Amino acid sequence: MSEPSELENYELLKSYALDFLGLDLFGVADVTSIRGSFLLPSTLVSRYDYGISLGKEVFLSVLDDLKDAPTLLYFHHYRQLNSFLDRAALQLASFITARGYLALPIAASQVIDWKNQKAHLSHKKIGELAGIGWLGRNNLLVNPRLGSRFRLVTVLTNLPLKTDQPIPFSCGDCHRCQQVCPVQAIKEKPSEFDHLSCFEKLKEFRNRGLVGQYICGLCVKACYGQKNYLYSK
Ligand code: SF4
Ligand code: SF4
Repeated sequence: MSEPSELENYELLKSYALDFLGLDLFGVADVTSIRGSFLLPSTLVSRYDYGISLGKEVFLSVLDDLKDAPTLLYFHHYRQLNSFLDRAALQLASFITARGYLALPIAASQVIDWKNQKAHLSHKKIGELAGIGWLGRNNLLVNPRLGSRFRLVTVLTNLPLKTDQPIPFSCGDCHRCQQVCPVQAIKEKPSEFDHLSCFEKLKEFRNRGLVGQYICGLCVKACYGQKNYLYSK
């Protein structure tokens, strides 16, 4: 019997991720051009040509609690989503491994270079290449359906897969995230995003004891897709 095609592998994993694992977003990136930037040994990453990007929705019911700062409800939800994503990535990696291929799940939220605030790899960059969303003015990915209301995890693999294409910048004349940012870190172009001011604000939120991690959520809440029934009323 012949090996399944890249498209068949893609459809199999997508169906497993969305229908069985309960994920909301699925895409595949060719990571050969960016794997040199991963904070992993080159002998290890050279085995992996594909990055599978998996996303889980941030609930509107939780974001509704945010007014001008992150809350404990949001902090707990953030950690629950990371935990859900880590488990889903492990299950998908196990599914791939059982078919005789390598799969490496990367933690949803684990800083390994504190000075530069970097993880083993950028889930956002892989999500962008995998067509999950475009890089918005708020420096987050914007998915056409969910806006920025999702979190991501990545599974690296050598299982041959069809790859997705990035989505072009489509913020258009929307500036909702700019209007809610308390430190005006969000500018007209994503490349002008003021990382320093944003990070200083996240530090302030944490130092005030509001939450235990560097999170905010205000520009996540502001960025929503067309089908957002709560905000469209
Ligand atoms: S995370 Fe908060 S401080 Fe940073 S850009 Fe978004 S709204 Fe502004
Ligand atoms: S809120 Fe609007 S401008 Fe901001 S990232 Fe989302 S779509 Fe782009």
